[in-house]
Amino acid sequence: MRRPMVAGNWKMHGTRASVAELIEGVRRQALPVDVEVAVFPSCLHVAQVVEGLSGLPVMVGGQDCAVEASQGALTGEVAASQLRDAGCALVLVGHSERRLLLAESDEWVVRKFAAAQSCGLVPVLCVGETLAQREAGETLEVVGRQLAAVIDACGVAAFGRAVVAYEPVWAIGSGLTASPDQAQEVHAAIRAQLAAADAEVAQGVRILYGGSVKAVNAAELFGMPDIDGGLVGGASLNADEFGAICRAAGS
Ligand code: PEP
Repeated sequence: MRRPMVAGNWKMHGTRASVAELIEGVRRQALPVDVEVAVFPSCLHVAQVVEGLSGLPVMVGGQDCAVEASQGALTGEVAASQLRDAGCALVLVGHSERRLLLAESDEWVVRKFAAAQSCGLVPVLCVGETLAQREAGETLEVVGRQLAAVIDACGVAAFGRAVVAYEPVWAIGSGLTASPDQAQEVHAAIRAQLAAADAEVAQGVRILYGGSVKAVNAAELFGMPDIDGGLVGGASLNADEFGAICRAAGS
């Protein structure tokens, strides 16, 4: 039985004051005990959020990490080891905004995934197709390739300590959501690809859906057999909305 997870990606949002308000808002939520909850603030606010949410069963994660796990001469980057030291438990790798806007390759995503695990962070591997790729019928091929890059380099066992997030690029921040059936088809394909290498690992891995998840559509998405929760962007900036999405993932 997989424990659902709901993760809020705060992206490049927030000031110290607005983050303090968001922390207070999250603290007010009745969070379901059977759901793992995480938030991903900008790295500038990680320490504030770790401190502000202390005592609450909410994990904190980084939105990205450097390809090198250890500290070093890499101006502007943040090492996975530094995120761990700051109190993070997870880190997003391969978010489509980084793959597309910052030209992050599969090879870099693989290195970040490995760097995260080498420091004890759980990587949340983001995969997903663009609208053009979906319309060309390439969805499963694109997602399969992004996943295969990590399986080939890190081994399928690495997914025993990782989370996968399927995030169709056309659904991110657009208000368009994949239908539960569209999302389930891709989630099932991801699990089947992992199962081809290791059935036990595939059964245990959480596969989150991301792309305009809101309180109104969360329960239907999370009700699909291979959708184990959500990675939530815009809606996670509203604590009440985020709390409702977390509750939708509970039993
Ligand atoms: C995201 O970017 O991870 C995301 C899912 O964003 P949104 O919920 O705003 O579509």
